[in-house]
Amino acid sequence: MNDRPRIRYRVQPKHLEAHRFETSCTVADPDPAGQRFALPAWIPGSYAIRDFAKHVVAIRAESRGAGVSLTKTSKDTWRAAPCRGPLTVIAEIYAWDLSVRGAHLDATHGFFNGPCVFLRVLGKEARACDLEIAPPPGRRQAGWRVATSLPRRGARALGFGAYGAADYDELIDHPVEIGTFTHATFTACGVPHEIAITGRHAADVARVARDLKRLCEWQIRFFGTPAPMDRYVFLVTAVGDGYGGLEHRASTALVCSRDDLPRPGAKEAGESYRTFLGLASHEYFHTWNVKRIRPAAFTPYDLQRENYTALLWAFEGVTSYYDDLALVRCGLLKPEEYLEALGRAITQLLRTPGRHRQTLAEASWDAWIKYYRQDENAPNALVSYYGKGSLVALCLDLHIRSRTAGRKSLDDVIVALWRRYGRVGLGVPEDGIERVAEEVSGLKLRPLFDKWLRSTEELPLGPVLAAAGIDLEVRPAEGPSDRGGKPSAKPAAALAERATLGARTAGEGNDVRLTHVLDGGAAQRAGLAAGDAIVALNGIRVTPRSLDAQLARLRPAERARVHAFRRDELHEFALTFAAAPADTCVLRVDKRAAVRALGLRRGWLGRE
Ligand SMILES: [Zn+2]
Repeated sequence: MNDRPRIRYRVQPKHLEAHRFETSCTVADPDPAGQRFALPAWIPGSYAIRDFAKHVVAIRAESRGAGVSLTKTSKDTWRAAPCRGPLTVIAEIYAWDLSVRGAHLDATHGFFNGPCVFLRVLGKEARACDLEIAPPPGRRQAGWRVATSLPRRGARALGFGAYGAADYDELIDHPVEIGTFTHATFTACGVPHEIAITGRHAADVARVARDLKRLCEWQIRFFGTPAPMDRYVFLVTAVGDGYGGLEHRASTALVCSRDDLPRPGAKEAGESYRTFLGLASHEYFHTWNVKRIRPAAFTPYDLQRENYTALLWAFEGVTSYYDDLALVRCGLLKPEEYLEALGRAITQLLRTPGRHRQTLAEASWDAWIKYYRQDENAPNALVSYYGKGSLVALCLDLHIRSRTAGRKSLDDVIVALWRRYGRVGLGVPEDGIERVAEEVSGLKLRPLFDKWLRSTEELPLGPVLAAAGIDLEVRPAEGPSDRGGKPSAKPAAALAERATLGARTAGEGNDVRLTHVLDGGAAQRAGLAAGDAIVALNGIRVTPRSLDAQLARLRPAERARVHAFRRDELHEFALTFAAAPADTCVLRVDKRAAVRALGLRRGWLGRE
């Protein structure tokens, strides 16, 4: 029983034209020494300090109708003068961040994450919370509804009114969408699911519901029924161009391009719809992996500062591995489409010189200052714990399958982690995943983990895929738009004849700007730097439209004069082109693979 006074919250989309929510928090029995309040510095799932307190534009406190003085004691903490209570703090919060981790409000809709609007009452975080979500004041918004996985405590379905949470941790783990969204429902393994799509779109919502049902049922059965949540909500924001997701215990907030949603009548799942399904699959898998199976370092979260763990390779990488694998196993992706996506993921790693600099364990630890704060040197200094993490998961899965003759796999390791830690609410210690993997597989895996997580040695992708009857080919890129995954009609020797700059570029009006200069590449050797604007090649004007054709006429080892502006100073560089490196991966099913490899592949992909 918890009969201590509940914390009462209220939030209202108040000044739509100024993008401000009004939020309040009432404590019946404030700390007699002066109650302290704080806004989180970050939101779980997005490992960067965001300082949500910067969007507080006004804040005051009152008790029984009289003002109470409020002192700011740090960037995100306030202390009220001692009073008997009840004590209410009222804040106005600016909301103009249309990302999955922020808050956004205008005359068309409102969206918020709890860490942006709900003050934490220090020392009383374990108290139960009542929440009133109040409607906007204007009559133009009379048709607005509410979509959230927050438990209802009197509010009607999709209605404004009373909601609640068991504690502060739960209160801030259910984002809320308010507006005139499209709404659909389905049931997966007995659990009611909802989809709310906001933003202009022309999606075949019935199809999205049908496909997500198939995916969700597969994932629930993967971990074992019953599902750990009693309902689930997909909050989708469709925009012109966008991509992102954030996981929560019973919902996810997704931002996608409206073109990623299927049009009515479209038969095949095109590449863009597969992108959307992959994103939904990723965030849904997090319902178990990171929201419940979570590092001891996050148990509980410290919301005011960085929380360090070396395990993000497992929570993000393993989730990235299973997002597309779940789609192929449940039949929403064809095996050849899956192999194409895997080929692109390997290509991305091969084009990251930073894999020679940063280990996966370091990438995870430094996520706060590196992965989430990437600059022009990022490709040379960083490796992604999503990308390389998912390929470590692949290596681990195929290694275990191969060494146990298909009797065990990474599936067994993940389900064991769920049973041992997630289901019972225990944090995973830093060595927990490696220990469970060894126990479940019966294999000595420590030396492999040392190499794959704590060194920069290359992953044995060719050999592990060969054991599953998949040939891995690495060739030079056909051109700048070649992301890998697909075979080339040209022989590798011909592709290597392409001259490359060793830099990434972006068109800026008529200028070609170097965004990243890669370690050891031709541009770096010539002295070019990120930020330089290339204006001429061998005395001929370079524009974003002409660059590829100009490069195509050059050959490796050829020398060229390059003119470029660094800031407003014109410089001349002597550049010797390099041959296109073999950094583009294609995977093919080996039609002559042995029976053993065929069996392994069937067990892995769940089909022929
Ligand atoms: Zn993720």
